Amino acid sequence: MPIYAYRCSACGHAKDVLQKLTDAPLSTCPACGADTFAKQLTAAGFQLKGSGWYATDFKGGASAPAPAAAEAAPAPAAAGCGTACSGSGCH
Ligand SMILES: [Zn+2]
Repeated sequence: MPIYAYRCSACGHAKDVLQKLTDAPLSTCPACGADTFAKQLTAAGFQLKGSGWYATDFKGGASAPAPAAAEAAPAPAAAGCGTACSGSGCH
């Protein structure tokens, strides 16, 4: 059975309510009796969805060029010798 976070926008009274999926949502605040008692979207679920996608995309994009750069590193080093040697004429 899911637990819903309810909050009254009139008095600020908050309560976690255990409800069946078939139960009608509450609307009357048990603290002040106003019809402003409403289900809240939990911030945790909302943030996971938003930042999770971004983090995954960023990681995949950043890791791809890294191996290519590591493989390319030795090549310029060998070419650097050639450039230096061509200048000094050691070959
Ligand atoms: Zn209230």
